[in-house]
Amino acid sequence: MSAEESVFDRYRADVDRPMRRLFAAYGEPRYGWFAVGVLANLLAQFASLVPPVVLGAAVNELTGDGYGLPLVPAGWLPATDAGAFGLSVGLIAAAFVATAAFTWVYGVAANEFAHGVMHAVRVDCFEKLSRLDMSFFDDKQTGEVMSILSSDTENLEMFLDNALTNSVRLGAMLLGIGVVLFLENPYLAAVTLVVAPVMVAFTYWFMQRAEPLYAARRRSVGQLNTRLENAIAGVELTKTTASEPYEVGRVRGASKRLFDDKMAMLRLAYFYRPGMELLAGVSFTLTFLVGGYWLFVGTPPGASGGLQAGTFVTFLFLSQRFATPLAEVSGIVDQYENAKASSERVFGLMDIPVAVADREDAVELDDVTGHVTYDDVSFAYQDGERVIDGVSFEAAPGETVALVGPTGAGKSTLLKLLLRLYDVSSGEIRVDGHDLRDVTLDSLREHVGYVGQDTFLFDGTIAENIRYGDFDASMDAVVDAAKAAEAHEFIADLPDGYDTRVGERGVKLSGGQRQRVAIARVVLQDPEILVLDEATSAVDTETEYLIQRSLDALAEERTTFAIAHRLSTVKGADEILVVEDGRVTERGSHAELLDAGGLYADLWAVQAGDLDSLPEGFRERVAVRPDGDD
Ligand code: ADP
Repeated sequence: MSAEESVFDRYRADVDRPMRRLFAAYGEPRYGWFAVGVLANLLAQFASLVPPVVLGAAVNELTGDGYGLPLVPAGWLPATDAGAFGLSVGLIAAAFVATAAFTWVYGVAANEFAHGVMHAVRVDCFEKLSRLDMSFFDDKQTGEVMSILSSDTENLEMFLDNALTNSVRLGAMLLGIGVVLFLENPYLAAVTLVVAPVMVAFTYWFMQRAEPLYAARRRSVGQLNTRLENAIAGVELTKTTASEPYEVGRVRGASKRLFDDKMAMLRLAYFYRPGMELLAGVSFTLTFLVGGYWLFVGTPPGASGGLQAGTFVTFLFLSQRFATPLAEVSGIVDQYENAKASSERVFGLMDIPVAVADREDAVELDDVTGHVTYDDVSFAYQDGERVIDGVSFEAAPGETVALVGPTGAGKSTLLKLLLRLYDVSSGEIRVDGHDLRDVTLDSLREHVGYVGQDTFLFDGTIAENIRYGDFDASMDAVVDAAKAAEAHEFIADLPDGYDTRVGERGVKLSGGQRQRVAIARVVLQDPEILVLDEATSAVDTETEYLIQRSLDALAEERTTFAIAHRLSTVKGADEILVVEDGRVTERGSHAELLDAGGLYADLWAVQAGDLDSLPEGFRERVAVRPDGDD
């Protein structure tokens, strides 16, 4: 299995400096929190340096070398032992309190920043997603989209509230320690920090080698997720074909790849971390060696003056401190790399252009009478061949137009164009004389009601599902709509009536019941134009009768387009269009089409059970085309 080139990859590759863009686009309103967080972090780190420095000063007082603090004029300091002791205790206590307080402030500020950014990113991603063209969703990229909305935003969150502050802390720590050491004793500071360039070089080496490994691991994670999503979605097929071992094998393969990539990365990370600790140990040992020599033997070559015991103590404390934060670099690099890839994915989604959107000068469609015109309409799905080819027809307000013909002929596609789920490739569709592309999508869809082949119910109550799209409708209106849709009876029989939970976690309704909920929704919407895409498919005869009765009532006084397999349901239509291979090949009323003796007449004969009168070649003509989607 490979991660196929998706629409995401195309836009992802063009995302420029994703982390900078993240900060510019989403950080900006929260820079205040960010600044407070960084400042508090710096102050907390500096405060934490105070105790070892004070400790060294106290030791110096004890050994008779005199009490002195870096950057503090000697005149301000107490002259007596008791005074120096009192000040030391006070400073150490104050430093711990300050460290705690600043750490709290920075924690709160950094999280306000990080989670604020993430909240905004999540909502924006979903808003963008909901505006994307229908063609985007045709490619079934839900797994990919879910992983952007969940794991990618999580990666960013982890980086922003963890790695980012850690790196600030690390920088502050190194800077603070370096400054303090140089103020105390530049010669010994140089000794302590002599390994620093080696550490930097080692870290650089590590990052260079780690990057491709991180990338490989991320790819394996993505592939494993896709595999799992696919396996769960296809569980019915797996079971019915007893292919569990095969499926487990595929998941095992994907999991093993992830295992291998992860291990390769960890081997490197576990080489880096102890390596850094070793270097820190070298630094400590060198400090101890040179400082001890200075104290016990004499001034080391190149140095001048003496070293005080207390200063030596400060050095030993601080040189020990500097390994731990540096060893965190691997974690920071890991999170940074992850976050960079994730923000690339986030912006890759945000940058996908939306073709079906409101024009700047789009007008509201109102006072609709329901006059619909298809004017030489042609259409191809993205990168595909033409599936609609020069279709023209017209429906006067209140008329019913039926579309019949073989599967895959383009009937559904024709009607989806009316809802502007896709834009025509050429030609024009007009409602009351307005080109669909000149009116706002919201106003168009307000006036066109749609009942499809398969009805989706949201997780929620029946009433909420009927109200979907018309969220303020009263309960009375909901019940009236359900009655008109012949749904009231079965709803009343459910355990909690209209408050029964349906959808993913609720009561499962049958196809016919869901269909009637969808019809009730459209009754409530009360559109001037109605699109019925085989609304009675896959139901039993009695249900079909009920549904048909409610649809007939609904279609009265509205311009209606109905796709039907069963010709009896469209017999009464004002005009019947026979669609074959993207073209209208016959048109007229039921009686006219029977008289014409074309495909419609043949289909009618089949459905009436009159198989003997079928002409040569009929089967080939109506056969399901291999690329038909149902
Ligand atoms: P009908 O409703 O008459 O059965 P459709 O309009 O569903 O026909 O399909 C017409 C043609 O368009 C078929 O060849 C089908 O495979 C293709 N098609 C349908 N939906 C899509 C889609 N979302 N993306 C690409 N091709 C599609």
